[in-house]
Amino acid sequence: MSNRRTRRFGLSIVLPILIACAGAIGLAADLITSVSNGANIADHDRTREVAQSAIASSVEQLANTIADNANWDDAALNLYAKDIDQAFAASAWGGPSETGVNYDVVIAVDGNGQVLTAYHAGKSFSPDVELYFKGGLKGLIARLPSDALEFKTAASVLATAEGPAIVAAGNLVPTTTGLVPADTPGRYLVFAKFLTPEFIAEIGQTFVIEDFHTEPSAARAFFTVTDIFGNPVMHLAWTDRRPGDLSNRAISPKAWSIILYLIVVMLAIAWLCYHEVRQVEERQTQSHYQATHDGLSGLPNRMRLMQYLEETSSDTKRGDGGLTITFVDLDGFKSVNDTYGHETGDRLIAAVSAGFAALAGPAALLARLGGDEFAVVHRGSRAAEDARALAQRIIQFLAEPFNLDGRAISVGASIGIADCPAEAIEVCEILRRADVAMYQAKLAGHGGAAVYSPEMDGNHLGRRALAADLKADLAAGRLRLAYQPIVDAKSHRACAVEALIRWDRAGHGPVRPDLVVTVAEQFGLIDELGTFVLATACRAARQWPEIRLAVNISPAQFRNPAFVATVASVLQETGFTARRLELEVTETHLIDQPQRVRQSMDRIRALGVSIALDDFGSGHSSVANLRQFQFDRLKVDRSLVAGITADLGGQTLLQATILLANSFDLRVTAEGVETEEQAILLNLAGCDLLQGYYFSQAIDAAAAHALFATAPETAAA
Ligand code: C2E
Ligand code: CA
Ligand code: CA
Repeated sequence: MSNRRTRRFGLSIVLPILIACAGAIGLAADLITSVSNGANIADHDRTREVAQSAIASSVEQLANTIADNANWDDAALNLYAKDIDQAFAASAWGGPSETGVNYDVVIAVDGNGQVLTAYHAGKSFSPDVELYFKGGLKGLIARLPSDALEFKTAASVLATAEGPAIVAAGNLVPTTTGLVPADTPGRYLVFAKFLTPEFIAEIGQTFVIEDFHTEPSAARAFFTVTDIFGNPVMHLAWTDRRPGDLSNRAISPKAWSIILYLIVVMLAIAWLCYHEVRQVEERQTQSHYQATHDGLSGLPNRMRLMQYLEETSSDTKRGDGGLTITFVDLDGFKSVNDTYGHETGDRLIAAVSAGFAALAGPAALLARLGGDEFAVVHRGSRAAEDARALAQRIIQFLAEPFNLDGRAISVGASIGIADCPAEAIEVCEILRRADVAMYQAKLAGHGGAAVYSPEMDGNHLGRRALAADLKADLAAGRLRLAYQPIVDAKSHRACAVEALIRWDRAGHGPVRPDLVVTVAEQFGLIDELGTFVLATACRAARQWPEIRLAVNISPAQFRNPAFVATVASVLQETGFTARRLELEVTETHLIDQPQRVRQSMDRIRALGVSIALDDFGSGHSSVANLRQFQFDRLKVDRSLVAGITADLGGQTLLQATILLANSFDLRVTAEGVETEEQAILLNLAGCDLLQGYYFSQAIDAAAAHALFATAPETAAA
């Protein structure tokens, strides 16, 4: 996931930079070429202007030459004379035409185009001017005055029979007025200078136009020279200097090195960005991992589980197969923590997590939800079977104690399994069902698994509500104690009472005491409840000096290492004599932590408090326990007592039990005595104390007070 994202991020930074680099290169190349092209074009345009004005200035130059020759007294005298002096013409114009410096051809004509005199390269000739100038001369002369009064010139490039030429004409006007009569029809002097390749080249040299030449093809020419009528006469071209190419060559290496430098800088920036993004991403991935995993076990946590379920439950909705969730809640973990400390508790969790991970395999998602709670999600068509098989493997796995620091530590597990049915259900509902099933497993006894069924809901919801009410009433002090008198087997005098919890739940009536205790154990209220019972009973019984007090202690209380301290502080606070107090414990689960229990028992007995084993003979009893733990008294279970009057076997069993107790140096109380016969038999069998409806039911505190505080000598019944 991370790699894909890195690539995406990389692309989103590196790609634009690469594109920018390519763009920069393109732009720079374009800029350089357009700058040099611009320079080339500008130079070409300027050269064309120069060439055009070069031609124009040659035309003007010839016009000036005409002005010098036509606006001249000698020329006028001669050319307006009846007989033209050819010798003058030859020396004035024929000679110079030979050199071709200013003009190649000179022709003098009258207003009708009749040639008066004509020279071509120093030689006299007689052209038909109409043909010779291809009709162009007429146009020039038309621009001049038709008399000899006012002087004017006209010049243009014209096509001639001998190729393109600059042609200039001027009307012959003497500078001295009156030399020619005013009404004399005008005569004209015409010069032509051929635009030969040599002359064009000469112009090129003068005006610094390289390789200035005529170009036969109009397409290849740079400009076309037209005559006065606008007809094309000749095409000109030259070799462009292309100064842009020069500057291009000069600039390019520098420009490219700058671009290269920029590209390197940009790539460096890109790399830095990419690097930074990767680092940020790594940190994100890391913090995401931390947010979705449990630090202690390294397993996914509740958040990850929820994410996973959100993802997979929608897959299930799409019909990708089943989904089963398994809740595992360790039994007895709290006491490991309390007994051996959090460090050992943490190590146990780590060991359990590793074991669970190995059992669950890679296909299932195993999460630690916190404390001693785990969840496993199985997917696919075999999810339901896999989950059940895993539950069995977990139970087997936990049957063996863990070895931590040389200590053998046992924990159990209550497992709840909920299958997600084909029709979609919400994630929180699946979790709730697994939770309900897990509580059911806990109720059924430690170390078991239960699969959710809808009937569990009522049960569970009922229990939650019950627990909530119990908590509230406990805090408000609304629970009461009843006291059942215990009598001496011989005298039948009350010598002790057993404190029994009574809870009248508002709106529901009395709740069975064993249910109150179970719910308190399940919902973490047992310590509070136990302390309440002990303190209340001690406070009451303090005023009954002749009476001993028996208080029931739940195994959950007993496993709490703080229990001994609680007992001691209650004794101190209430001022009750320790010697008059007896704690009743059932043996269930005492064996969970025999060492720990033994230690607690020793310390309780050191306070002066005695301990009785309750409900002996109810089915779970084991003689081994009698040997392992030092009890002061045995309470024979009601079922055993009921048996003695039914048949002889019952009597034998009771007899054997009492003998056994005596052999362990234990006194015996019989409970559930309902008849006189039972009372007699039990006394004969060796029980020293009797308890049961035959003598008295449990009575409330006020009644007990009336009995024991005012008349301590009074025997019950
Ligand atoms: P248990 O410790 O065996 O207490 C004796 C139970 O037997 C009491 O029931 C008592 O009312 C009943 N009983 C006494 N004499 C007779 C008789 O002649 N016939 C019959 N059928 N029953 C008789 P209760 O008060 O309902 O208590 C039930 C159980 O609840 C107790 O059994 C005890 O395990 C638990 N419990 C009651 N109070 C507390 C308490 O404060 N703390 C703890 N941890 N457990 C308690
Ligand atoms: Ca009891
Ligand atoms: Ca009992």
